[in-house]
Amino acid sequence: MANKEQKHIYDVIIIGGGPAGYTAALYACRAGLDTLLLEKESVGGQVARTSQIDNYPGVDCGIDGFSLGVKMQKQAEQFGAVTIMEEVTKVELTKEVKQIITKHNTYFCKSVIIATGATPKHLDLPNEKELIGKGVHYCASCDGMFYKDKTVVVVGGGNTALTDALLLSRLAKKVFLVHRRDTLRAAKVYQKQMAKTENIQFIPKHIVSELLPRENGLDVILKNVAGKELMPIACDGLFVSIGHYPATGLFRGILDLEDSGYIKANESTCTDIPGVFVAGDVRTKPARQIVTATADGAVAALHAENYVADFGARSHND
Ligand code: NAP
Repeated sequence: MANKEQKHIYDVIIIGGGPAGYTAALYACRAGLDTLLLEKESVGGQVARTSQIDNYPGVDCGIDGFSLGVKMQKQAEQFGAVTIMEEVTKVELTKEVKQIITKHNTYFCKSVIIATGATPKHLDLPNEKELIGKGVHYCASCDGMFYKDKTVVVVGGGNTALTDALLLSRLAKKVFLVHRRDTLRAAKVYQKQMAKTENIQFIPKHIVSELLPRENGLDVILKNVAGKELMPIACDGLFVSIGHYPATGLFRGILDLEDSGYIKANESTCTDIPGVFVAGDVRTKPARQIVTATADGAVAALHAENYVADFGARSHND
């Protein structure tokens, strides 16, 4: 299908349907802005891949990430937000009327809120890509169910790795948690839970050096970071939980990015282009949490509201 130009000019287009994006949509709609949210895959973003969220205020019994994402979408849509499931392939941000281009459509808007989040990091081992979905996974809450009563390896030492290991310990017979250092980055609350979980074995100071597929399973070869000796683990699946890359490929060469790829912006969420705001994990920030993402969404929408209010006057002066 050819790319069709949608002549309508939205007040704000939000790219990304995670907590930052849907909070921005909620605030923008409540401020009376004509709001479109574009999402490429499924609502909720990274949160949708999190099995259990206990640190989101007001949700006293915890909630799974997918349900939280759907609730955020519903709440924003109750106030008039429109979601279109299309992947943005190009952006033109420098002119007064900005263009957001997908495979099939070109959308026009006065302001943009980027809330594209991040994607999981790979170990970059030679045959890792071929084994994705065939023993190698990046989302325990999505794929953990395939490993009931099996043996799995989780790599990483952050909150994602520990929450993944804890989730998998409730399904699998045995979980090995492999980390390259002897101290974990994860919150103490998860470390304590892990220490009490009998079927999780922590293997510090090791990295994965090779993946050897075999019939109905995988040999994960570990290498001691100090001694260089190898330790094979025969398992059924490997979960790589080592963090994320910001989803900023679209903005390279257009917006000011950190060396690590995150979009440079302070707490105001303003980028170096007027009318373009950035919210959530994709922005430079010290803490990437759901609450910090939602906070950004609200701030970005308030700035977009002010920007749009002055839009007519600015266009007139051009
Ligand atoms: P992270 O905090 O950046 O941790 C990544 C972990 O993977 C680190 O332990 C790191 O080791 C290790 N690692 C990185 N590259 C590696 C490699 N190539 N080989 C082996 N190990 C490698 O990432 P995250 O755990 O995905 O968390 C991201 C953000 O989401 C954090 O702010 C976290 O708090 C938040 N989060 C919160 C929750 C929750 O509260 N429920 C759940 C999930 C995530 P080093 O420690 O040695 O660097």
